[in-house]
Amino acid sequence: MAQTYDVIAIGSGHNGLVAAAYLASAGKSVLVLERNAWLGGGVVTRELTLPGFRHDQHSMAHIFIQGNPLLRNDELGLKSKYGLRYVFPEMPMMSLFEDGATLPLYRDRERTCAAIARFSPRDAAAYRRLAEQAAAWLPMIAASLYTVPAPMGASTAMLDQSREGRALWRITQMSTHDFLCSWFEHERVRAHFARVAGENLVSPDEKATALGAFVFVGFLEAYGFGVPVGGSGQLTAALAACIRDRGGQVQSGTDVAQVLVKGGRARGVRLADGRELSARDCVIGAIHPHHLGRMVEGIDARVAAEAAATEVSPNACITVHAALRAPLRTRAGEPLGAVMVELMPDHYEVLRRSFDELRYGRLAPYPLIGLGSLSEFDGTRAPPGAAIMHAWDYVPYRRVDGRAWDESKREYAERMLEHMQRFLPNVKHDLLAYHCDSPVDMERTSASFVHGDLHGIATSTYQSGAHRPTPELGQLTVPGVERLYLVGPFQHPGGGVFGAGRGAAVKICEDLQIPLERARLGT
Ligand SMILES: Cc1cc2nc3c(=O)[nH]c(=O)nc-3n(C[C@H](O)[C@H](O)[C@H](O)COP(=O)(O)OP(=O)(O)OC[C@H]3O[C@@H](n4cnc5c(N)ncnc54)[C@H](O)[C@@H]3O)c2cc1C
Repeated sequence: MAQTYDVIAIGSGHNGLVAAAYLASAGKSVLVLERNAWLGGGVVTRELTLPGFRHDQHSMAHIFIQGNPLLRNDELGLKSKYGLRYVFPEMPMMSLFEDGATLPLYRDRERTCAAIARFSPRDAAAYRRLAEQAAAWLPMIAASLYTVPAPMGASTAMLDQSREGRALWRITQMSTHDFLCSWFEHERVRAHFARVAGENLVSPDEKATALGAFVFVGFLEAYGFGVPVGGSGQLTAALAACIRDRGGQVQSGTDVAQVLVKGGRARGVRLADGRELSARDCVIGAIHPHHLGRMVEGIDARVAAEAAATEVSPNACITVHAALRAPLRTRAGEPLGAVMVELMPDHYEVLRRSFDELRYGRLAPYPLIGLGSLSEFDGTRAPPGAAIMHAWDYVPYRRVDGRAWDESKREYAERMLEHMQRFLPNVKHDLLAYHCDSPVDMERTSASFVHGDLHGIATSTYQSGAHRPTPELGQLTVPGVERLYLVGPFQHPGGGVFGAGRGAAVKICEDLQIPLERARLGT
């Protein structure tokens, strides 16, 4: 390794890779350093169970990145040059209720309306209105996601100037539950959209979460849920290939201990083995706010203390990845058909009470299991005739009974499988092997997933937009430390595969006075 680069990126999560890839395209010499033996952070595909079964250890559905100019305009050639391919199933999501009833969400609005009408014709009409509104708001919302967030005051003032804007602001302040009760009458339709909010690790009763339903439906209809052919890790592979092709380096197995700061400016990094590497232009860091104080030399104590005080979600994630002898079937003998399947109680209140218990640090009485079996859409994931399953549930990071997750996770995984059996009768019969990641494992696989929060920090209003993770750090920079740029699920626009590293690249190009066009097209 040479000792001096233009740009050093700490972490090979997709956001760091995206930022680094734009800068490599702009002609900068780039080095990406990853602590793990593999690349990708939350965007990784691994044989976790048996040979030939390729599991997306974390993210599996690439939803929000589909609206990013990175893919929409193929700005870095990930699709045209570096082999990234997606399929977009017609049914992105489905609720499967315990009594066997189903409520699917299709990309096609009329098909969804027909499915909802089986529960309530009035709710079908309400969904049509929701989808129309979501489509109208989508361009404005999407325009804010892949760039530096607008200051909070300015964006609120802008919304306040029109009737449309004020309506949107009102929705942003409501809880999902309040919104659903004012919009839909049937409890299963309410439960279905409440579970959509749950995918953001929030209870439907959490204030300021209602906009999520509009964002979800807007993206689902406009872009669909992308299933990456070959697995989630293909995005990582395409980004790494792009960086290397443009002269950059991506290095695994290299732990960064600290960002070196001299004269109020980030100058490089110190590795855990003591070596120091210099960065002429900037350092990009996937640094969780809780770790900022120890990672950034000489950081302002108040900035670090506020970052350390950011709130993590009480709903930590636990996953089961299974290798299956045969595809999953519902009790009616049907294939799943949807990218994401939510296993739902028959009554909405049960779902709300499960989220309530998590708030008090207790295990949810009714599991909140969602799952995907992407071998249904991509034959590369499992040997012929076989299948994979990725199931997730929410649990407290610290168990009230004091038991450690390392010792108790398999028992919990068995509980999950037992519960799934009620919906998918062949799940245990066809199980060949499984791998379970507890919230503690989650934290071990990426420093972003503190306490098993797959969004890094909670998605609450006061930790959103330009105030994510804190008002001081919301512009992707660190006050008092020039040329250090932050990427991660704990920054705007939040957790998920957004390709949000593009926002960091926009900011860096501005500061280095590089025309973004050069970074986009490598010209
Ligand atoms: C179980 C689970 C399921 C999910 N499912 C979905 C989904 O279906 N769809 C979706 O959109 N999102 C999903 N997500 C969320 C999504 O995976 C993350 O939000 C996203 O991957 C974050 O990307 P990132 O690049 O910001 O950070 P990360 O992916 O966390 O990458 C950060 C990287 O930096 C490395 N690193 C950190 N510090 C250092 C250091 N000091 N030195 C060297 N390396 C370092 C880490 O090892 C890691 O590889 C899921 C997450 C989890 C955990």
